[in-house]
Amino acid sequence: MILAVASGKGGTGKTTVAIGLARAAAAEGRTVLFLDCDVEAPNAALFLHPEWEEERRVGVLLPEVDPEKCTGCGRCAEVCAYSALAVVNGKVLLFDDLCHGCGSCMRQCPEKAITERLHTTGSLHAGRAGAILFARGVLDVGRAMAPPVIRELKRWKLGGAGGPGRLAVLDAPPGASCPVVETLRGADRVLLVTEPTPFGLHDLEQAIGLARDALGLPVDVVLNRADEGDDAVERFCEKEGIPVVLRIPFDRKIAEAYSEGIAPDHAVPEVGRAFRDLLLVLAGREGG
Ligand code: SF4
Ligand code: SF4
Repeated sequence: MILAVASGKGGTGKTTVAIGLARAAAAEGRTVLFLDCDVEAPNAALFLHPEWEEERRVGVLLPEVDPEKCTGCGRCAEVCAYSALAVVNGKVLLFDDLCHGCGSCMRQCPEKAITERLHTTGSLHAGRAGAILFARGVLDVGRAMAPPVIRELKRWKLGGAGGPGRLAVLDAPPGASCPVVETLRGADRVLLVTEPTPFGLHDLEQAIGLARDALGLPVDVVLNRADEGDDAVERFCEKEGIPVVLRIPFDRKIAEAYSEGIAPDHAVPEVGRAFRDLLLVLAGREGG
């Protein structure tokens, strides 16, 4: 199973849940891959302490125009869906940070004036955290394009990782924008972590709009700090027919463990048991 753990906003406990599930599955002897796809702030390694074994640089293929061949026809700018190209006074201008490296401009240039060059934007790292295979992407400081780094991370390590008896946990970036879409694409199901507050509900609605409504993925909800706030999230989930599969009460020991880089389920055994139970629930939903 490929399970993406996401949240509409940061600070809900998403990474705590992702780590807890990975550790619970590994403790049961399952083959577990953990992918930290939050490439702008990858912090799961602070809790899982992997020993790094591999590293590689990644980026996007940017178009490069040969001015000797270019006639300034403007076809490349017309076909660019991301407005990354403009033709001004017969010269092609490229806005690097908008380019997705899709190659359309190169294929459509009637003069064959465009080639591609690799523009590195981040790095990938992989290793082992005990029995867990761990990999993460890291976007270079000052770069704006997280999706290509996430795409390369998944391409590098995800193949076959969600097969029978295996669990791949994808720790998604917070929010509901392009990096989250890139992370969720291809997942078998999505676990949305939220908290019982008006902000939690608002951001959960956006995340459901993306995961369930736009991408068509099965969705479950984890309610963190479930004994605080109000019951609006519970009522919303009931109305929408979305199962709340785990409720984690506020526990000062969990917050302290998090601040010290200790996996919360390690510090609070009941949390570990709750994650093992959650794995059974999710396996039941997948039919195996
Ligand atoms: S499509 Fe080719 S020839 Fe036309 S402006 Fe772009 S690079 Fe130049
Ligand atoms: S590679 Fe794609 S995104 Fe980049 S400039 Fe060309 S058409 Fe636009």
